[in-house]
Amino acid sequence: MSFHLPKLPYEKTALEPYISRDTLNFHYDKHHQTYVTKLNELVEGTGFAEMELEDVIRETEGNKDFIGIFNNAAQVWNHTFYWHCMKKDGGGKPTAPLLKRLEESFDTYENFCFLFKQAALTQFGSGWAWLVEEAGALKILKTPNAETPLTKDVKTLLTCDVWEHAYYLDYQNRRPDYVDTFLNHLVNWDFVEKNLHS
Ligand code: MN
Repeated sequence: MSFHLPKLPYEKTALEPYISRDTLNFHYDKHHQTYVTKLNELVEGTGFAEMELEDVIRETEGNKDFIGIFNNAAQVWNHTFYWHCMKKDGGGKPTAPLLKRLEESFDTYENFCFLFKQAALTQFGSGWAWLVEEAGALKILKTPNAETPLTKDVKTLLTCDVWEHAYYLDYQNRRPDYVDTFLNHLVNWDFVEKNLHS
């Protein structure tokens, strides 16, 4: 086995009532695990089996011969990153100096929330909303399916999974409520801060 499912950084009930244990039972144990299992099947006997996950993603991105490996590898990485983007009693306005960075790039924290939510809601179908640092400025991106800013020349700071499997059990079709809750109650700003200085 080349790749493993990393441990969740908290208990399955830690994000309740905002994200339920049921959601994590499916999202982590089933969806995330399946990406790991499929990736291992696809790389078996290839040079990718010996590579770091990040290198597999960078090497296979945009290559139609390796689309399955890219999709599963990127989803393994995106999900591990996403789990760390949340914590118990997270969300709300971060403290300085991160708040200052957000204000420099988005004018106000409220405008950052508006733009992040807009990216999350306008990602048609499955995908991800991201906060990244590019050339010294903070920027919001959205990516479809498994695509990830990891392959771009940016520093990845924060993500919100907007695949339906991330929120359907708790919010059904109400993606806006899920994204509001993510911003107001779940974001792990300590992790964002750590990424900014990595
Ligand atoms: Mn997901």
